Amino acid sequence: MHPFSFVKVSDTREALAAGRHGGRYIAGGTTLVDLMRETVERPETLVDITHLPLRDITVTGRGGLRIGALVRMAEVAADRKVRHLYPVISEALELSASAQLRNMATIGGNIMQRTRCTYFRDVTAACNKREPGTGCAALEGVNRTHAILGTSQDCVATHPSDAAVAFAALDATVHLLGPDGERGVPFANFLLRPGDTPDREHALLPGELITAVEIPAHPRPLKSGYLKVRDRQSYEFALTSAAVALHIRRGVITEAKIAAGGVGTVPWRLPAVEQQLIGRRPSDRLWAEAAERAAEGARPLQHNRFKIELLRRTVERQLRIVGGGK
Ligand code: SF4
Repeated sequence: MHPFSFVKVSDTREALAAGRHGGRYIAGGTTLVDLMRETVERPETLVDITHLPLRDITVTGRGGLRIGALVRMAEVAADRKVRHLYPVISEALELSASAQLRNMATIGGNIMQRTRCTYFRDVTAACNKREPGTGCAALEGVNRTHAILGTSQDCVATHPSDAAVAFAALDATVHLLGPDGERGVPFANFLLRPGDTPDREHALLPGELITAVEIPAHPRPLKSGYLKVRDRQSYEFALTSAAVALHIRRGVITEAKIAAGGVGTVPWRLPAVEQQLIGRRPSDRLWAEAAERAAEGARPLQHNRFKIELLRRTVERQLRIVGGGK
């Protein structure tokens, strides 16, 4: 591990001052410390933000939710408001990581976590994300777990967060505080596809701090849930996953919010599937028909072609679980 200095701050003013001078924010530290041990990350200064007052979960408007950036994953998953209003968020969190990690990791850190691509974590391998311009060892390497959507010639790594898939489906906004004040970024614009700059992963400006993730109010009743398919049943990242939220009124689907995980370089919204559902009545036939469009635009690699069919089945199954049907 490279030497670094450590600053503890107690309010956002102090945090921003430290961030302005190149300090790297740390809270749960469940990703960053691992990466520092492996010398993938080499920050000069860590700014401990654990004591900032960003630990509330509040209901906004008519059923929206604002989740402070420093609320722990386990706290969000167990929160009665979250479980009642957006079970898709609780389920995504409960299926993430291990109990120990969920007790430490924060919601802000969860959406900022870095890819699990093994080449990214191996400092002897070529990796454009870690060292721009060095190449991508995954393109010709073992790429079974890599992305099939949103990839580029420079990077094919998936985004690992489950909660981020639920936030993408629910049209969340990420609230930021920086030297120039506050701003909100739609979740769809917050995490960046790799393009030719895979080292740029998010829309944060230098020194900006995530303060909250906000879910807007959705029409009620809203049924929602998260399905994760993985190589083993716990402490494993998704091969495919599906976050589904449906508003069904008088037997007709009037809102459908669907996103997939484990398949995209960012949480992957599925507008073609959503469009297929609007104005229709729930049925097994409809779920199958809509799920056919889940992998539209996929570009599989040598070892991950199976994800196309697995994604279709994951989406179909989760539509049936959430929406019912015959
Ligand atoms: Fe690096 Fe991305 Fe290639 Fe993995 S897929 S080796 S993270 S450039």
